[in-house]
Amino acid sequence: MAVQRTLSIIKPDAVGKNVIGDIIRRFEENGLSVIATRMSHLSAAEAGRFYEVHAERPFYKDLCAFMSSGPILAMVLEGKNAVALNRQLMGATNPKEAEAGTIRADHADSIDANAVHGSDSAENAAIEINFFFANLDLHSRG
Ligand code: ADP
Ligand code: MG
Repeated sequence: MAVQRTLSIIKPDAVGKNVIGDIIRRFEENGLSVIATRMSHLSAAEAGRFYEVHAERPFYKDLCAFMSSGPILAMVLEGKNAVALNRQLMGATNPKEAEAGTIRADHADSIDANAVHGSDSAENAAIEINFFFANLDLHSRG
């Protein structure tokens, strides 16, 4: 599998719990490199643009309110099979269904406050990386 890049976001709940370091450690220990980081406090409108694909979903408004409720840490992860590997480390969207030892099983409280975001495909990763970062912000280890 080729080297890929993916967008990870540590959501406001996990930033508030002070577990940024624990989450990044899991990425690094599993062969992913952090090649860009940015701490932001999004407005609800900015969160709405990021999650535009979910605009018609019933949870969209709550999701935008939650994602703008405090600072987040956006980062770009690079490594072999990065998109799927990050999703595996995250665990299922609903922490009640997340496999033991995943980030969401260990740090998420609910389907709303579920600790992390991760791109779901290489195509969406490129779009999401572009939302937060310019080319010059990416420091590839390759
Ligand atoms: P994931 O973050 O695992 O890729 P989705 O892309 O389906 O999940 O949804 C985006 C985010 O919207 C989820 O991480 C979660 O915070 C929220 N969400 C998804 N489904 C629900 C739901 N049924 N009720 C409330 N919030 C939800
Ligand atoms: Mg998703």
